Amino acid sequence: MAVNSYIGRFAPSPTGPLHKGSLLAALASFLDARANSGQWLLRIEDLDPPREVPGAADLILRQLDEHGLHWDGPVLYQSSRLPAYQDALQQLGRAGLLYACDCNRARLRTLNGCYDGACRARKANSAATSPDKPHAIRIQLPERCSIALDDLIQGVMVFDLGKTGDFILWRRDQLPAYQLACSLDDGYQGISHVVRGSDLLDSSPRQMHLLHCLDIETPQYAHIPVLSNPQGEKLSKQNHAPKLNSRQVLSNLLDCLGLLGFNTPSELCGASIPQVLDWATKHWQLSNIPPLSRVTESDKKQQLS
Ligand SMILES: [Zn+2]
Repeated sequence: MAVNSYIGRFAPSPTGPLHKGSLLAALASFLDARANSGQWLLRIEDLDPPREVPGAADLILRQLDEHGLHWDGPVLYQSSRLPAYQDALQQLGRAGLLYACDCNRARLRTLNGCYDGACRARKANSAATSPDKPHAIRIQLPERCSIALDDLIQGVMVFDLGKTGDFILWRRDQLPAYQLACSLDDGYQGISHVVRGSDLLDSSPRQMHLLHCLDIETPQYAHIPVLSNPQGEKLSKQNHAPKLNSRQVLSNLLDCLGLLGFNTPSELCGASIPQVLDWATKHWQLSNIPPLSRVTESDKKQQLS
């Protein structure tokens, strides 16, 4: 691959401000793009109004800027892309790959995350030709659907999508599902490399399958460990991860570099933000990143003194 064909991205949801865990993912994707002389795009995944926090999207942009993580080109807001998601849904419907699912939450809960295909018999051509009852649209997976993912950090993994069953592309509240919007936009933005947290490792084979169905090239994936609290839970808004302290931008960055396997030299403790990012870009190696699903603050490499 020619170096200048590298296009990476960071794609946060505006459900709250960035915390250290989300900075870790932003920084890793930024450095991988810059180390490959690539572009780094920003996409705001604002397709879930009930979970969104007013002002969070602007705050995220400001936080990235404060940390020197400057993106290329305009920001893509998924809320502007609804017609494209509808078109893709119709394309998949015409190919006979979709059906409406009106199973209620109580029934789905009994299935323990593996959809049994109960509604398969009722095929829908598109969201428009649906029954009146509230329903989601699912993609019908082939009889056997094993996907091999050659992850740049975690190595080769084989997933059997049949284990979790047909997944949802259009939600019962009439919003596009994450898997559809995310894969379609990775294709639309020409993303060549997706560097993100390993909490999304289960999504990648589904997105690969979907891209294949839509005849769109799949990106390369690199899943970094997610930052967990000492109880082993991923830092998130749900477990009250604190917002990044904008008065500690340098130490936020150095902490994240430590978690990504860097031994940062002591001079960097007095360096400017661009100097730290330049140093990290020059020393960036995916092979330094621990191939783990989780890291905690105590796993951080020590800063040399
Ligand atoms: Zn169903």
